Amino acid sequence: PYTGPRAAEILQKRGEFLSPSMFYFYQKPLNVVDGKMQYLFDEDGRRYLDAFGGIATVCCGHCHPDVVEAIVNQTKRLQHSTVLYLNNVIADFAEALASKLPGDLKVVFFTNSGTEANELAMMIARLYTGCHDIISLRNAYHGNAAGTMGATAQCNWKFNVPQVGIHHALNPDEYRGVFGSDGEKYAKDVQEIIEFGTCGRVAGFIAEAIQGVGGIIELAPGYLPAAYSSIRKAGGLCIADEVQAGFARTGSHFWGFEAHGVVPDIVTIAKGIGNGIPIGAVVTTPEIAQVLTRRSYFNTFGGNPVCTAGGLAVLKVIEKQELQQNAFVVGSHLKERLTALKDKYEIIGDVRGRGLMLGVELVTDRRSKTPAKVETLHIMDQMKDMGVLIGKGGFYGNVFRVTPPLCFTKEDADFLVDVMDYTVSKM
Ligand code: PMP
Repeated sequence: PYTGPRAAEILQKRGEFLSPSMFYFYQKPLNVVDGKMQYLFDEDGRRYLDAFGGIATVCCGHCHPDVVEAIVNQTKRLQHSTVLYLNNVIADFAEALASKLPGDLKVVFFTNSGTEANELAMMIARLYTGCHDIISLRNAYHGNAAGTMGATAQCNWKFNVPQVGIHHALNPDEYRGVFGSDGEKYAKDVQEIIEFGTCGRVAGFIAEAIQGVGGIIELAPGYLPAAYSSIRKAGGLCIADEVQAGFARTGSHFWGFEAHGVVPDIVTIAKGIGNGIPIGAVVTTPEIAQVLTRRSYFNTFGGNPVCTAGGLAVLKVIEKQELQQNAFVVGSHLKERLTALKDKYEIIGDVRGRGLMLGVELVTDRRSKTPAKVETLHIMDQMKDMGVLIGKGGFYGNVFRVTPPLCFTKEDADFLVDVMDYTVSKM
């Protein structure tokens, strides 16, 4: 049993010693002390089904024994920077990761986070093209450092600091967007930004296939091929941010972009790649990768042996336990059941997503699509009290994000929906 500090004490220390910008979920925040596969345990040993762990990087399950073993064994052996010396783990993981990517995407740079990966990807695009302008999507989240905050496009994540060289294109949002599901119409905005907002040439374009922080918004079909085509005609590189949608989560494919029939020039990865440990990656082609040889490029802990040993173990677990297939089967079942809930309750305006990356958008009125913010918070809190953790997101904070570890079962999915059903029925 857990005998450490309790929630109230931690909260008090957090208030005194940690950044006042830190926030938490739930009116009474949860002190999580243990994790095991799809479950989290609080200070009283109470068990919660974790349907949001995916977001916080847990891909194969909390403390998956194979991943823990790989990390512990490597930690006992060597933890160091592997930039200056040779070590087999970083090379083995790079090889394994490259084998999961299509085409010529074969060269890996490891980083420590998603923000770092996107910063590097944007810099590579600028160096390779000799251009500066980058187009990202409104409602995107790509990180919170100097460049990536520019690419992020939701005002609550943007501080008033210089964010130059970024244009934000119309979001191809099938639920709220002006062109509905017509991806090609939204993509015309990319072409127009190039024509009216730049010198005619751009460094690149960055987008997620399914926006995570933005509220599980799957880009309208036909959008990415058309947008990529405009960007490439303007000399730019196409960056796929796979920080959330990658690593088997969408079930139908290993990478989110694959569902759109495109092959990016640069792919960025983080979160799920490490199952909870800090690691990110940028993968690109040998030709594009050459630009970093123009100067010295160094990242002390990017690709360190412990994190890459963990990453390699994650890939093996995904394959051994057929987690992509599981994400597809369980995710399809879960989406079907959530869609049936939508038929039952007016407040559910939309159910969307793919595999185990699903969104449920709550509105007070289906026609005006007025965000049901207060209700979202209430239901989340009630579900937590019944033992189910889900996330929330979207610009208006009214979208449930269901992104569990990929070991989630059909029974877990049923329990989640039953609890949501009960909670909504009591409102
Ligand atoms: N890209 C996407 C799509 C993300 O969701 C996030 C994190 N929410 C990031 C990049 C940044 O990753 P990190 O927090 O690891 O810097």
